[in-house]
Amino acid sequence: TTEALAGKVAVVTGAGSGIGKASAIRFAREGAKVALLELTADTAEETQKEIEASGGEAFILECDVSDAQSVENAITKVGEKWSRIDVVFANAGINGAAAPIETMEVEDWNKTLETNLRGTFVTVKYAIPYLKKQGGSVIITSSINGNRTFSGTGFAAYSSSKAGQVAFAKMAALELGRYKIRVNVICPGAIDTNISKNTFPSEDLKEIEIPVEYPEGSHPLEDRPGKPEEVAKLVLFLASEESSHVSGTEIYVDGAESLL
Ligand code: NAD
Repeated sequence: TTEALAGKVAVVTGAGSGIGKASAIRFAREGAKVALLELTADTAEETQKEIEASGGEAFILECDVSDAQSVENAITKVGEKWSRIDVVFANAGINGAAAPIETMEVEDWNKTLETNLRGTFVTVKYAIPYLKKQGGSVIITSSINGNRTFSGTGFAAYSSSKAGQVAFAKMAALELGRYKIRVNVICPGAIDTNISKNTFPSEDLKEIEIPVEYPEGSHPLEDRPGKPEEVAKLVLFLASEESSHVSGTEIYVDGAESLL
């Protein structure tokens, strides 16, 4: 077969929208069976329908990555159903708290970090016993915010969570290489998705909105934000054997936005 992921089982968190949805569909097209982890089952139905319509296999698991027990349960169910896990795409995330540091609610900070950073840790943690059996690939979705500041002020919690994911990915690559588990982290720039719905702006930061239209000149490459399908191409590369010697790297997919 020429399918890049034939016979593989992939787990995708946040598989109902944006980057997770596009990547789950791409994985399935390349022959993987895909477990779609989402906050609510209905959010992932469209992804499942698209996969099944083109002859692929996917099942939905309700899972809140900010709840460790819920992640453990979901991963266990994938193992029970398909007996293996080869690819883990720890992608679910929220913009979360958008507020000046001085007035940021501790609860909002916690929610952002628990979803984006701790969620990544537990997703990887509970998948390791399965990945170890035959080796595998872990891909983590950070952001250009993990290294630099974008989107104006107010994103201290988001940026901290995204920087944490980069550090976590590198430690994981160091630790898991002996089991033939590769770990890489992707840093998207502005991508057209639904993420702005998951932003909690504080009262004093009402003006903060993730821009839908970017000022001219924001992206050196074609001067436009990215599409989820363009991120999915990179995720597929990292998931597949085409990247067999790539681990511990941080890869930008941002139309060179971060150079400006
Ligand atoms: P999106 O909102 O379109 O999709 C994210 C999905 O994750 C949603 O379907 C949501 O229901 C799910 N999700 C949220 N919290 C969850 C939880 N606790 N448990 C399980 N699922 C949960 O957004 P997206 O842009 O596709 O975001 C995916 C990842 O990409 C995030 O980690 C985000 O930080 C990152 N990212 C996005 C951009 C961008 O511009 N869109 C840029 C850089 C990084």
